[in-house]
Amino acid sequence: MTDKPSSLDPRPSSLRERVAHWIRPEIRTLQAYQVPAATGLIKLDAMENPYAWPDDLIEPWLELLREAPLNRYPDPAAQALQARLREAMAVPEDAVLLLGNGSDEIIQLLMLAMAAPGRCVLSVEPGFVMYHMIATFTAMDYVGVPLQADFSLDRPALLTAIEEHQPAIVFLAYPNNPTGNLFERADIEAVLAAAPGVVVIDEAYHAFADSSFLAELGKHPNLLVMRTLSKMGLAGLRLGLLAGPPAWLEEFDKVRLPYNINVLTQFTADFALQHQDVFEAQTRRIVQDRETLFAALQDIDGLTVYPSRANFILFRTPPGQASRIFEALKGEGILIKNLDTAGGLLRDCLRVTVGTTAENAAFIEALQKVLPG
Ligand SMILES: *Cc1c(COP(=O)(O)O)cnc(C)c1O
Repeated sequence: MTDKPSSLDPRPSSLRERVAHWIRPEIRTLQAYQVPAATGLIKLDAMENPYAWPDDLIEPWLELLREAPLNRYPDPAAQALQARLREAMAVPEDAVLLLGNGSDEIIQLLMLAMAAPGRCVLSVEPGFVMYHMIATFTAMDYVGVPLQADFSLDRPALLTAIEEHQPAIVFLAYPNNPTGNLFERADIEAVLAAAPGVVVIDEAYHAFADSSFLAELGKHPNLLVMRTLSKMGLAGLRLGLLAGPPAWLEEFDKVRLPYNINVLTQFTADFALQHQDVFEAQTRRIVQDRETLFAALQDIDGLTVYPSRANFILFRTPPGQASRIFEALKGEGILIKNLDTAGGLLRDCLRVTVGTTAENAAFIEALQKVLPG
């Protein structure tokens, strides 16, 4: 990246100079979010549910979509869907919901509403990359507090950073991505007590975790709980939700674009949640297969495998091997996620999403083949 000082003339002669003048420097130095091509590969890189809908759901769903009024704007508040979500997720009565086009959009909404010069977002490293990226988009500072070597929260370091930086927003993914662990509840309680702004507990993987902060809403004035339908099987829909006190959510709702949840998503999510048993059965199967996959990885010499409460497993390869193993797996037709390039605590780490039983077996077989010795 050549960091030539941008011209003071707002209409410089060349296109390149004009772009360099007007696009903020912190945006120019960013890399666009990379989604690797997966055509022809077994796709175990993106925490998707590998199972399609059973045939007997497809017809009634298509019937429903026939009724969707595509010529009209959708219900801006998605009231029917909100009611369905409240019931399906047992949202406490005194909490309200805000829906987003994926929870990524909710992260953006929160920051849009709270960004101001000198204000920061605080999270942990390694953590979910979008917190940092969207902070940059919205011109907020970002503070990443390192986790401990076992990926647990470093409570003293977090409390010191909160005291020093007074973050507008603290994000903690529960379970954490990309490490897969649940943080200690007592550590999170300490963060809630210390944080001056809001604390968002991001429960993207709640379906696999069997532990939640949703029932804690109302006990802390600054707690917000975020979820998504993506990881439980509806990644293509793009629907995320935030639950929290009305006083906060009424403000965030002002920066939400009025029709952010389209009519196909509203109809489909409402339908899907009426068949929650189907998704719960898929989730149970993924959790069982996660344990089988964990045991198979642990049986392989030279790997350190981290226990997971999500639908993926993080593991560490012998030093300096991760990128080669990642590429060799791709050569064998299997796409996982290479985290070695992120450095820090993720040096030598790869992350595999739990796929179907057959996909997991194919992954283990390929991994054994490409490992040294
Ligand atoms: C995948 C993921 C999200 C984003 O989910 P979408 O609803 O698909 O935008 C948010 N947080 C964490 C921790 C995730 O892993």
